[in-house]
Amino acid sequence: MATTLMRLCAAAIMAVASGFSPAKEWPLTIDTHVDIPQAYMQKARFDAGADSVLKVDLAKMERGGLDAAFFVVYVEQGPLTAEGYGRAMRLADEKYDAIEALVQQNPGRIRLATGPQQVRQNHQDGVLSAMIGIENGYSLGRRLDRLDAAHARGARYLGLTHTGHNAICTSSGERPEFGDVPAGGKGLSGFGRSVVLRANRLGMMIDVSHASDACVREVLQASAAPVIASHSAAHALVPHPRNINDGLLRGIADSGGVVQVVAYTYFLKPDPAREAAEQALQGEVAKLAGAGEFDSDLHDGHPAYVVGMARIDAEFPIATLDDYMDHVDHVVSVAGIDHVGLASDFDGGGGITGWMDASETANVTRALRERGYGDEEIEKLWGGNLLRVWAEVERIAAGAGA
Ligand SMILES: [Zn+2]
Repeated sequence: MATTLMRLCAAAIMAVASGFSPAKEWPLTIDTHVDIPQAYMQKARFDAGADSVLKVDLAKMERGGLDAAFFVVYVEQGPLTAEGYGRAMRLADEKYDAIEALVQQNPGRIRLATGPQQVRQNHQDGVLSAMIGIENGYSLGRRLDRLDAAHARGARYLGLTHTGHNAICTSSGERPEFGDVPAGGKGLSGFGRSVVLRANRLGMMIDVSHASDACVREVLQASAAPVIASHSAAHALVPHPRNINDGLLRGIADSGGVVQVVAYTYFLKPDPAREAAEQALQGEVAKLAGAGEFDSDLHDGHPAYVVGMARIDAEFPIATLDDYMDHVDHVVSVAGIDHVGLASDFDGGGGITGWMDASETANVTRALRERGYGDEEIEKLWGGNLLRVWAEVERIAAGAGA
């Protein structure tokens, strides 16, 4: 405790001298999965440069000491048709535009980082880093050139799937309305294999969160570069299909990759009663709002939703930092300290008691310390490992010649 206090005091003195806030001094913190609403940077309440309702905005990052985040170009699964792909591409393009707007409108506070060295440089300069990840390769359609275009816009990881199988690979969850059946032994498609190889050549990390076990196994065989899971937890503790079993945790570690443990309540602490209550409430609120289905971007602020969620939170408490640390400890014990990182899934359903938004990021560091992790280990977990993997993915791409 005394050393922590001394460090804080030293940081405060340096902060006064340098003009930086103490939160920026140590460690370099990276959250690998932050969602953005479709109307990000368009509606005032989703303006991350101002006071916003978002769990991650610049002020909350600065206050909580979150230095860098992968903002995610997520597109919901739709039908595997030309029309579906066209729509997905348009929606994805809007999100790239929004992230571009974020950095352009806040030049002194955040910069786009397209390589690990830039993240470190931004941190040294006292500026936040925005990185871009793709969630759901559905937005590529069946076109490899879309991956090149995404890379050109700054995307540096590709989450192959979301819920529902796509043209690349099978998912850990099916969408029966689009004709999905359980993945079974089916993993990557032929197109999926070419996507993995193209990502390797571009220096883009492959993200297997949401993918089926068969897909993860086949990606680990096909990829020339280390593989990441940008937001997943431990299947051995909570057997949710989105979580990763010990064998695959080891496989990702053996690839040289990293598993970013996610602070998403249902993956950390199963609670079917809460899940059912939440779904019922969403149905009610959608009806009250006169909408076909619940849309969190539109209905999160609806009074009936706010009151209903307060009731649900009181009755079925969400996971805590302690639950989260159990998963971190487990993944560290199976994959090794060099192959684990941290992710929130904020603004995409993530958030636990103690880490409800980016302003509470320092609580995670504190919880790691309470679990006995030392400075060097905490630096690895908070971003050192991810930056190492990213640099290795770039090195392999440079060797292959893009
Ligand atoms: Zn996700």
